[in-house]
Amino acid sequence: LFSKPWVFIRGVPSLKFLPPEGPPEIAFAGRSNVGKSSLINALVGVNGLARTSNTPGRTQELNYFVPSGYSGDEGDLPPMALVDMPGYGYAKAPKDQVDLWTKLVFDYMRGRSTLKRVYLLIDSRHGLKKNDEGVMDLLDKAAMSYQVVLTKTDKIKAAGVPRLISETLSALKRRPAAYPEVIATSSEKGEGISELRTAIALAITL
Ligand code: GDP
Repeated sequence: LFSKPWVFIRGVPSLKFLPPEGPPEIAFAGRSNVGKSSLINALVGVNGLARTSNTPGRTQELNYFVPSGYSGDEGDLPPMALVDMPGYGYAKAPKDQVDLWTKLVFDYMRGRSTLKRVYLLIDSRHGLKKNDEGVMDLLDKAAMSYQVVLTKTDKIKAAGVPRLISETLSALKRRPAAYPEVIATSSEKGEGISELRTAIALAITL
């Protein structure tokens, strides 16, 4: 899955532009600046595929990536797609933009039968914030399976990682749609990337 180069196929500003349901999809969500683009780049092994440091809060699109070499025609569908969801929690985002985000993401999650799991990225330095909790409320309400991925673990002390994992796990206990394992990653150091690939490869078979 991750040995080929991946390509961007489309940006989806509203649900009518979604590709027809086909291969299993895995989506990524997280606060602006959480390290989502860096993680997707590390995952698919191509730099600059998902734009890093895009203007926070601006791109309100679901960005679709697939392994290269598939026409997308019937009979030649890719084995899976990755969907980069717009970042949230940008301090200066006006309320109507937040509402738009919520509507796009919630409608997508609820209506997409091929969406297998959402990976929710949390910055290791900050832990779960109020707007992350809000997104988890949405995911639980949509009965959408999700798994937490800690990012930028190289930015905290190594000894703090197991503690952060167990704190996060206990916060997830009362959440019905949360997967009871957390993956700790550093895109910078390449840590946790193969673990995340394995988890994704399993999730698309569910
Ligand atoms: P996005 O807004 O969630 O897509 O975040 P980006 O991937 O653009 O990353 C935001 C900032 O965090 C950039 O300056 C990245 O270089 C930095 N960053 C991302 N991942 C890591 C990481 O694993 N370790 C460190 N130290 N910095 C990271």
